[in-house]
Amino acid sequence: MTNKRIYLSPPHMDGRELEYIQQAFASNFIAPCGPMLNQLEKQFSEYSKIPYCVGLTSGTAALHLALKGLKVQPGDIVIASTLTFIGSVSSAAHMGTQLVFIDSSEDTWTMDPQLLEEEITRCKKNGKLPKAVIPTDLYGQSCDFDAISRICKPHGIPVVMDSAEAIGAKYKDHHVGYDATAAIYSLNGNKIITSSGGGILASHDKNLIDYARFLSTQAREPFPYYEHQEIGYNYRLSNISAAIACAQLEIIDKKVQQKRAIFTYYQQHLGDLPGITFMPQATYGQGNSWLSVILIDPEKFGGTYEDVRQKLEEHNIESRPMWKPMHLQPVFRHCRVVENGVANKLFSQGLCLPSGTSLTEDDLNRIINIVKNCGNSQ
Ligand SMILES: *Cc1c(COP(=O)(O)O)cnc(C)c1O
Repeated sequence: MTNKRIYLSPPHMDGRELEYIQQAFASNFIAPCGPMLNQLEKQFSEYSKIPYCVGLTSGTAALHLALKGLKVQPGDIVIASTLTFIGSVSSAAHMGTQLVFIDSSEDTWTMDPQLLEEEITRCKKNGKLPKAVIPTDLYGQSCDFDAISRICKPHGIPVVMDSAEAIGAKYKDHHVGYDATAAIYSLNGNKIITSSGGGILASHDKNLIDYARFLSTQAREPFPYYEHQEIGYNYRLSNISAAIACAQLEIIDKKVQQKRAIFTYYQQHLGDLPGITFMPQATYGQGNSWLSVILIDPEKFGGTYEDVRQKLEEHNIESRPMWKPMHLQPVFRHCRVVENGVANKLFSQGLCLPSGTSLTEDDLNRIINIVKNCGNSQ
């Protein structure tokens, strides 16, 4: 293979990452605490305008602590998007909750508020309301938060936004997650910014964040010796990882711009092909275009998404099918799902194209030409 491999969404160290890692070394805080971790939390709160946040080992851990803070118990109902990554619901599953999945709306691909409303009406009739709703901001596009909130608020149901993929995205005039009871963000290696691995839990509720921080460091009571009144977790982010994230967060706006430009470039060069459509861009906000996603209608295009994926792979280019909906996962076959068929259709046609911010125009043209050559019109 002569061409270098093109990955789907690789890390891109494009700022002062090394400098900050060196600072972390110099301070000798090679630990899950330290000045870079404090700095990251301060910086993220300033950027998102969400006043309180805590740096954790992963987005999945952040969701776990959000649910712990909301006192979610085994047997409680937790409602989530079906079209998402399993990290969105694995903590709820570990906690022994009763998961219910909601399908996507056609125009945003995120949680359909109408189906959510039907489900909550049904829950109410059965006398058992959900303890939390977890909508996912899909591929960096916000869910319709206000529509979801209007349904949940009258019943006092907390909304925990899974904004793992959406750092830098906007809902109306605010950063995604701003209005939620709590929001989680991922700093995993494939996300728009990374700490190599990590997550952030953010909220306007200081008590929720204080409690999460307490749980994340083994629920140690403030005594000189180790005293525990409850059992916590070892979920605190390392100071070294935080150093990387600080540098990445400094240039998040540039990364959003780059990701959005990649989406636009694909759209300009592939958007007119028969059978190819792009992920709709909701008018209520501005996504970060974490991944550029296309739908391929095999009849009109002359090939399936899997044909295209394999052809790209032959050229050492990584692309990936869309998230397989949670309600189709064998592990969740016992769970309730409120369906309209959208997520199934998206999964049967969707392909995520390489979207790394380090892609060059030559890389993009290579990818575009291969995709074009898979279709009938060539
Ligand atoms: C990445 C991701 C997560 C999990 O984040 P980690 O930091 O990898 O634990 C959760 N939900 C969604 C939608 C994600 O894409």
